[in-house]
Amino acid sequence: MEKDPVCGMTVDPKRPPGGTSTYGGKTYYFCSAGCKASFDRTPAKFAK
Ligand SMILES: [Zn+2]
Repeated sequence: MEKDPVCGMTVDPKRPPGGTSTYGGKTYYFCSAGCKASFDRTPAKFAK
């Protein structure tokens, strides 16, 4: 399982409900479209 970097929820990487984003060569998974939108706005804030 992967962790949604925005809200901390656990997300199934095979079926991420909010889709995925790639940042800094790493793929991030999201629980919802809202979390993905937040990440895409300011990825540096959430990416580790
Ligand atoms: Zn989330």
